[in-house]
Amino acid sequence: MQEEFEVAIVGAGPAGISAAYTLAGRGIKTIVLERGEYPGSKNISGGVLYGHDLAEIIPDFTQRGCPVERNIVESRLWYLSRDGGYSAAFRDQLFYDRMPPNAFTVGRARFDRWFAEQAGEKGALVVCSTVVTDLLRDGDNRVIGVRTDRIDGDVRARVVLLADGINSALAAKTGFRPEPKPHHVALAVKDVVELPEEMINERFNVETGHGVTIEIIGGITGGMDGIAVIYTNKNSLSLCIGANLSDFMENRVRPYEMLEGFKNHPMVLPLIKGGKSKEYMAHWIAEGGYDAIPRLCGDGYLIAGDSGMLFNALHREGSNMAMTSGRFAAEAIMEALEKGDLSRNGLAGYVSRLQGSYITDDLKKYRRFNTFRLRHHELFTTLPELGGFAAREMLTIDGISKKKKQKAIWKKVKKDISLCRIFRLLWDGIRSVK
Ligand SMILES: Cc1cc2nc3c(=O)[nH]c(=O)nc-3n(C[C@H](O)[C@H](O)[C@H](O)COP(=O)(O)OP(=O)(O)OC[C@H]3O[C@@H](n4cnc5c(N)ncnc54)[C@H](O)[C@@H]3O)c2cc1C
Repeated sequence: MQEEFEVAIVGAGPAGISAAYTLAGRGIKTIVLERGEYPGSKNISGGVLYGHDLAEIIPDFTQRGCPVERNIVESRLWYLSRDGGYSAAFRDQLFYDRMPPNAFTVGRARFDRWFAEQAGEKGALVVCSTVVTDLLRDGDNRVIGVRTDRIDGDVRARVVLLADGINSALAAKTGFRPEPKPHHVALAVKDVVELPEEMINERFNVETGHGVTIEIIGGITGGMDGIAVIYTNKNSLSLCIGANLSDFMENRVRPYEMLEGFKNHPMVLPLIKGGKSKEYMAHWIAEGGYDAIPRLCGDGYLIAGDSGMLFNALHREGSNMAMTSGRFAAEAIMEALEKGDLSRNGLAGYVSRLQGSYITDDLKKYRRFNTFRLRHHELFTTLPELGGFAAREMLTIDGISKKKKQKAIWKKVKKDISLCRIFRLLWDGIRSVK
């Protein structure tokens, strides 16, 4: 490719396309390079997107055919033992008709494609089936474009945005971001189970167009620090389960076995019974948090989305941070182009925008959360089993007095976990989210 662009973007995920849409909308000559056959073909996520961040980029996204599956009206939380579990839920009328929708499910293959088409309509050039293999630099080490796997595949650009996701071979290869440490990423597997729309409505107690998210922790990850989710789509359910990579390495658990165990859990099985698995995928999740964020801009380049470790592991928010960081990157690039200064200083508006936003605030707030989970494996082992035992005891009507049952519960608690450990857990837990 001999043509020169003002901006080259690596990756057509939410971060890359948000930037491309914003830049192209302002007449900036922008190219997006995507390794997948089409945008979304390589992408996986549980599938919840957030209307606020998308509407900041495309305010009328629902009218423009955004492929929404279901508007989320209820969020459930499950804490599971091996055989049962606790459940809590929150539903609010406010979530029913809110515009833009607060949270909604999408299939990433369809959504990313639609989003890239919107950027294309604004004038961005989206080139697929093209892997960016390296960055081009001048004699002063400034980034001046990208090298691709195509013949004559060097693309020169005044600025490069790395929006290539958590598994960024490029960032690691070029030294812009250290290879993520095993405890900075989770390995997640996802299964999409097809079911008729009416059956999903019935099983989840929702009307057509409305959906539910279920976030699950406890004894389902084989004692590893992990989480599972169930999200409702129009006529399918997304089931994801994942755990910290360092735990996987230590425990030698096979991800698909964990997924099968999850699907057969007594709380999960009735929801998916009769369904047909149609997709199975695995992906990393960026869980390093605030302290693992690399330097996000330098001479001639910026990093956005998962590639910059912008993911809130407690609230499972990544797509919103990707979109907003992509938009911020685009705004900073436009400022720098106007000033004619594409150095690290010239692009620093990106970092100040992030610092003034919910992204830095939230990631800072939860900076201890990942360490907390890794240090307290009892959250995934002893505690859900004790919780299950206590509830089973109190709810079983068998002629034994409640006082005796309470004694039995206390005896088991004292045997299985020390009071000191419980206090430590509470103390670390509060500190990790305060
Ligand atoms: C199982 C799972 C469930 C999740 N659930 C949710 C959820 O419900 N809600 C939520 O908000 N977030 C969720 N996330 C996180 C969310 O998916 C990410 O935060 C989000 O996709 C990040 O967007 P991104 O654009 O930064 O990266 P990505 O979406 O990963 O996009 C990166 C793109 O770059 C391309 N690429 C990579 N390398 C190259 C290269 N060298 N050359 C060319 N192209 C390249 C990739 O093919 C990809 O298209 C989930 C993640 C996983 C794994």
